Amino acid sequence: MQQKIPIVIITGAGLGGLSFYHALIKNKDKKEFNVKIFERESGPQGIETNIFHKKNFHVNSLFPTLSILKKDRWQGYHISINNFGARSLVNCLPSSVASNLPKAMPNPIPDVERHGFSLSDHTGCLLLKPPSKLAKDVYGVANASGSSEIITYRDRLRDVLLENVPVQWGKKCIGYEETEKGVWVFFEDASKEFCDILVGADGINSPVRKRKIPELQIFDFGITQINADVAIPKSLIVRLIKIIGNSLSQKTIGLNGDVILIIYRLIPIEQEQEQKDKCEPHYRVTLIFNYPTKLDDNVESDKIKVDDNDPASVIDHVKYMIRKLRPECEFTNILLELWSLVPRTAPDPKNYLFKTYNPVQRRQIRDIDPLSVNVWTSSRVTLLGDAAHAMSPVLGLGTNNAIKDAEVLSQALLNYSPENYISCIKEYENEMLKRTSADVLRARSSTLKQSSPVGYFGSIFRNNYMKTVNFIMNTFYYDYFSRK
Ligand SMILES: Cc1cc2nc3c(=O)[nH]c(=O)nc-3n(C[C@H](O)[C@H](O)[C@H](O)COP(=O)(O)OP(=O)(O)OC[C@H]3O[C@@H](n4cnc5c(N)ncnc54)[C@H](O)[C@@H]3O)c2cc1C
Repeated sequence: MQQKIPIVIITGAGLGGLSFYHALIKNKDKKEFNVKIFERESGPQGIETNIFHKKNFHVNSLFPTLSILKKDRWQGYHISINNFGARSLVNCLPSSVASNLPKAMPNPIPDVERHGFSLSDHTGCLLLKPPSKLAKDVYGVANASGSSEIITYRDRLRDVLLENVPVQWGKKCIGYEETEKGVWVFFEDASKEFCDILVGADGINSPVRKRKIPELQIFDFGITQINADVAIPKSLIVRLIKIIGNSLSQKTIGLNGDVILIIYRLIPIEQEQEQKDKCEPHYRVTLIFNYPTKLDDNVESDKIKVDDNDPASVIDHVKYMIRKLRPECEFTNILLELWSLVPRTAPDPKNYLFKTYNPVQRRQIRDIDPLSVNVWTSSRVTLLGDAAHAMSPVLGLGTNNAIKDAEVLSQALLNYSPENYISCIKEYENEMLKRTSADVLRARSSTLKQSSPVGYFGSIFRNNYMKTVNFIMNTFYYDYFSRK
């Protein structure tokens, strides 16, 4: 008798959920599933922004390719995909999708770009630059035995992963009910779907997680994060590189727990000829500013008004904090200039070099340690990516782990049968919990250390310690950050 094809439902079409979708389809010769993927966002490009001034509407229609789309949420323009994330990504994707990866992760430019991370102090003086192997392309990163990474356009990676995937948009999952025969998944629009296996890949606020493991608590760091995507002129990036070098992921730590991360590629933004004639080449840069939330109390007492619905006030707030926390020097001037270039209101699409715009806002850094509860009862319902183990972004491990989850779960499901599905899910969860809990705690510890105020004398000790670690790492090629 022919067996019925089992149905797998994925809630969440983020980088983790989409990688998992492809991996199941890629393996369909070995084990066939009927895979359905549901996403709460209204469409692949988010929603067209309605915050343009009326006078700009004609510009919008004259330049349709330049119209700006406001994503339903901030996706972040650059992320680092490391060797284990790249390996899992390549393993999950069919060759037809993998061949499009260079659109999202263009090959590193030899002698120009250093795809690696470096850390400097509040004046831009180098403290740590761990060894990183320069790869030729994403396959080189995937095959690297030591630390290697590729700075990736995050939203383009999602676009590549979305191609030919029949995502059901506008379907916000609100819960599920597990029965002996399967799982009913419920959506906000009052519809419901039945499946054999439910995979919650629906991010940090996952309703699937809240139902499956309600005891799992979100840990709040007490650290505020402000992110922005900005197009910066070549002359400014040249000044920046002169001070802190050409690592594409640059972090600077201050004396008061303030940390600024700058991530970019040295690939100029495509411009229309008219724009090329008018201005110098520009690069896309992602800026991330972290500081202990309690510092906001002083800001309030300084009578600065920050309104998270008013991006201009948030940008002014960042600049105020930088002036207050950083010394007067060229490096601080560059940081201020970078933040001055962040759009204060919805930009004019004719001149805006990014395709998407998200107003800057203050957010709190949070994580979830999946092993902070003792019992994870394996069932037809499981979790993948941030839904299970959101982690602080400081070590750049969240997406890498989400994609690794997708690979491990798809492999475990190759042995699926109606009798042994629990053991497949258990095999995945055992590996996932151990791997990701360690990374959540590692990222948490780094975040808390970096964000602890040290003061002037403390910084002398910290900086010398970092420089010693740097010496050891580079002399003995000690690979703290790599994973086999
Ligand atoms: C500033 C910053 C920098 C980062 N840098 C890096 C980096 O360099 N390297 C790295 O590896 N990671 C990085 N990360 C982490 C990374 O962004 C996340 O770990 C990654 O996005 C997790 O992928 P995911 O698919 O699990 O979740 P998400 O990307 O959150 O996707 C979840 C999807 O589910 C959808 N969804 C949510 N709720 C529902 C619902 N109820 N029903 C249906 N759909 C729903 C969402 O709309 C979304 O599309 C960074 C994060 C931040 C904030």
